[in-house]
Amino acid sequence: MATVTLEQMAKTYPNGFKAIHGVDLSVKDGEMIVLVGPSGCGKSTLLRMIAGLEAISSGQLVIDDKKVNDLEPGERDIAMVFQNYALYPHMSVFDNMAYGLKNRGTPKATIQQLVTEVATMLELEHLLDRRPNQLSGGQRQRVAMGRAIVRRPKVFLFDEPLSNLDAKLRVQMRLEIKSLQRKLNTTAVYVTHDQVEAMTLADRLVVLNGGNVEQIGTPLDVYDAPASLFVATFIGSPAMNIVEGQIDSDALSIGKHVLAACQDVDTQSVSVGLRPEHLKVVSADQASFTLAVTLTESLGADLLVYGHITDTDSFITLRLEGHSKVVEGDNLPLTISPDDLHVFDNEQGKRLA
Ligand code: ATP
Repeated sequence: MATVTLEQMAKTYPNGFKAIHGVDLSVKDGEMIVLVGPSGCGKSTLLRMIAGLEAISSGQLVIDDKKVNDLEPGERDIAMVFQNYALYPHMSVFDNMAYGLKNRGTPKATIQQLVTEVATMLELEHLLDRRPNQLSGGQRQRVAMGRAIVRRPKVFLFDEPLSNLDAKLRVQMRLEIKSLQRKLNTTAVYVTHDQVEAMTLADRLVVLNGGNVEQIGTPLDVYDAPASLFVATFIGSPAMNIVEGQIDSDALSIGKHVLAACQDVDTQSVSVGLRPEHLKVVSADQASFTLAVTLTESLGADLLVYGHITDTDSFITLRLEGHSKVVEGDNLPLTISPDDLHVFDNEQGKRLA
């Protein structure tokens, strides 16, 4: 059981590159935090700083009530699961899982009991004598998790643990990780660039961009009210449509199309976000605007429709029910509920409403 607190934690690499700019985060006991963001945003750097594999340039890292900035990785009571599994190739599954316990001088009988218990939990008990090269990718990933679990650490750290698995196995292992974390109730920090993995695993998401935190919140909070244009287009699939809009004294419009009434505001240019799944096809007299369809893609359950909003330059995506009868060349009358509109300022990309 543990809390993890980051206070203004920053990282400058020896070549002078500032990879992390003062991150504040409080991970609650038993919580699963997912660090998500595009390649190079600093996710792995931040995780490695928590693990003790990368020095902290400034700020504080506190586990429970103890500052651990200067503790070696082995002294922090955390266990890390890596993307490449990092198993010892010459050791059996049993010895791989037992390794950390042996190093700590745990009695043999206790090791036997702990490894057997965790191997059973992970359905690995029939594979304990095999070497890693005699296992499938999913089984190797389970051994890597088992090795972390037997140590009963205060905190689990996961660095893109599923990225070497095929699509089907990723979904299966994602569910296994989630149910294991719920069962063990261990505080965890998980890194991924995959937004679906992030949404499904996280109690709270931390969206990173260029070494800065863009937003921290539950997956639904982040989806419903993205704090910036960056988050708006990163979370959600297909990505949120962003179109140019204007706010004047009584309306929010795109081109000459009025989307919603609004309070007295000075006229200003804004970016308007419309999620593909929130646009509704209606009768012509109820429409806010019309979409000239240029392309459709069937995904089975869903139909993706692409086109541009007539009388504007805006090209957008729409997600409809899979059997919708829409074809290239159609003009679709569309509307969107004012509650589903997202408005961002054009300069900083910050959320206005
Ligand atoms: P990915 O998803 O591609 O793994 P990431 O979000 O995990 O990316 P990091 O590996 O944390 O990103 O890297 C963050 C930034 O720091 C990148 O711009 C990277 O080039 C830079 N960086 C990483 N390691 C070093 C280093 N040892 N020296 C200098 N810069 C580094």
